[in-house]
Amino acid sequence: MERKSSEEERKDRKSESTSEQTDYDPSRPNYHPVEHACWKQGQKVPYLAVARTFEKIEQDSGRLRNIETLSNLLRSVLLLSPDDLLCCVYLCLNQLGPAYLGMELGVGEMVLMKAVAQATGRQLDKIKSEAQEKGDLGLVAESSRSNQRMMFQPASLTAGGVFRKLKEIASMSGNSAMNKKIDIIKGLFVACRFSEARYIVRSLAGKLRIGLAEQSVLSALSQAVCLTPPGQGFPPAVIDAGKGMSAESRRAWIEEKNSLCCLSLVLLQCITLNEMPNYDVIIPVLLKEGIDQLPNHCKLTPGIPLRPMLAHPTKGVGEVMKRFDEAAFTCEYKYDGERAQIHILEGGEVRIFSRNQEDNTSKYPDIVSRIPKVKYDSVVSCVLDSEAVAWDREKKQIQPFQVLTTRKRKDVDASEIKVQVCVYAFDLLYLNGESLVRQPLCRRRALLRESFSEMEGEFQFARFIDSDNTDIIAEFLEQSVRDSCEGLMVKTLEKDATYEIAKRSHNWLKLKKDYLDGVGDTVDLCVIGAYLGKGKRTGTYGGFLLACYDEENEEFQSVCKIGTGFKDEDLEQHHKFLKEHILPKPRPYYRVDQSAEPDVWLDAVQVWEVKCADLSLSPVYKAAMGTVDPEKGISLRFPRFLRIRDDKKPEDATSGAQVAEGDCNLVNTQSC
Ligand code: ATP
Repeated sequence: MERKSSEEERKDRKSESTSEQTDYDPSRPNYHPVEHACWKQGQKVPYLAVARTFEKIEQDSGRLRNIETLSNLLRSVLLLSPDDLLCCVYLCLNQLGPAYLGMELGVGEMVLMKAVAQATGRQLDKIKSEAQEKGDLGLVAESSRSNQRMMFQPASLTAGGVFRKLKEIASMSGNSAMNKKIDIIKGLFVACRFSEARYIVRSLAGKLRIGLAEQSVLSALSQAVCLTPPGQGFPPAVIDAGKGMSAESRRAWIEEKNSLCCLSLVLLQCITLNEMPNYDVIIPVLLKEGIDQLPNHCKLTPGIPLRPMLAHPTKGVGEVMKRFDEAAFTCEYKYDGERAQIHILEGGEVRIFSRNQEDNTSKYPDIVSRIPKVKYDSVVSCVLDSEAVAWDREKKQIQPFQVLTTRKRKDVDASEIKVQVCVYAFDLLYLNGESLVRQPLCRRRALLRESFSEMEGEFQFARFIDSDNTDIIAEFLEQSVRDSCEGLMVKTLEKDATYEIAKRSHNWLKLKKDYLDGVGDTVDLCVIGAYLGKGKRTGTYGGFLLACYDEENEEFQSVCKIGTGFKDEDLEQHHKFLKEHILPKPRPYYRVDQSAEPDVWLDAVQVWEVKCADLSLSPVYKAAMGTVDPEKGISLRFPRFLRIRDDKKPEDATSGAQVAEGDCNLVNTQSC
């Protein structure tokens, strides 16, 4: 037999490993994290392994199966290439780092199309029309790749390599950034194999959308560390701690182990809910110290924003009394401005974060400079929760929220500030090295008052009364409205009065003036379609299709059509903005009934605050379908446009579950 040349042998080995990688199937039964992985111990995780995992997850709609599939990939990563765990988790979340660093992907479709065209030698027009037809540029990129013959196959992509390039792209700005981005994207495309291009395009566009929410990624991670503990060395002693069990008892065992060790809870507490919303810190601790040590290493840290505690709406003082029954509570003014989480770092640096953990420090140089004047010397470091409210210095009074929105958002020069703000502090979450979130509100409030002094129109404590007398509370509510506030925040003081990070808690109730008028609360909905205007509205859009966001299924669910509440200028502004976001087809993650199909589909990029009077069960709308009725969804009746919510991302829109729970205070659900 003729001996193969070393070049041929290299090619054979290469094609063997490529076919291993294309056959990689983390959803297979009895997955073995070493034998069934498509790479070897000590090697870098191939990006194709991640892409294959996404493919499997996208094909299957079973949440538990998908969590298992992802956990299998992560088990292999834990054993074979633990250093890649962090980038794999970020790739699954389609995040580049902690939210507060503001590193976001979201490369424009045009740039992506140009890069696909240039990398594959295809015409831009063809790419455009195919993207219109398929409704997913990712699929176009994938099929364009397979048309392409290569003289030299570039080195295969690794998960770490792709992640670094994504970060590099997101960090580029300025005039020449566009061409540089295209060059990097082209470099990635030419190295893509099989479905890799599909997921790279979607990641770049900021819309991975494989139906895997952050909660599921966390469950997969906790399942992986539960079955295949990290830090074992190689060969590992425990490859599958649930070996030998049937699929069902294995699942039950994992669930039990999870709840016994509170694994997913611990992870959740540390990450999404809680004190350290930063995987860069958590994953290395997980790998080095093990899951039990997470709470000891991932502590609240000034400079790293927390997700804020949120409130439930209530319909009136009567409901407050019923909910809080025997509990001691306080009623605070609900100021109408912008939430400001103020951090004082050791050494004196001040940082201010928004409700969504965005860094607002450069928006409020005036607040930054007044902090040293209002804090007592005893305060070395702290985290304050407060509302920044527009303030009229001459009349010495609060101004409406709309005035605050006219203030510049970034890099404000203190000498040019026209809209003054007063900070109304209502909570203290951290003081001098200690987290206070597990302390009751009465203690936190006492410490807040011991740590700061008031300055009129600059820094004040939220006004409050501690009373359980209905008449006194009703009068205080009226007074709050006369003082230009939205109503009251009613909070437990002693029992069940901890600060619940990232939670919409029943221990905080909001009592807005509007609820009393019987008009219900407002909801924040995403615009996903528009209807062409007729008569006076010809040439613009006359109505819009709005949707809730369902985090569990990662989808936008239609909830109503809206055509009222718009001034002529509003309609003009919406048309101008939204026509730039027209889609040829609805996104695969839009849930809309055929009978409500709009004239134009729109990309879910903007959130509107909408007021409505009532709810109905509807066979046409999809919000919360299956929650209240197996076949009907919830729809809003008589919705009216109030304003654009620039501070909310599409994924922050009100969820169907919130509407269904009556969170929005929408009563009298009727069937129609
Ligand atoms: P949510 O933040 O609950 O999703 P939203 O953004 O529409 O909804 P509101 O329903 O108006 O906000 O109420 C909550 C907000 O009220 C808080 O995020 C905070 O910015 C503001 N607020 C004003 N005064 C207070 C106070 N005394 N205590 C807590 N929050 C207050």
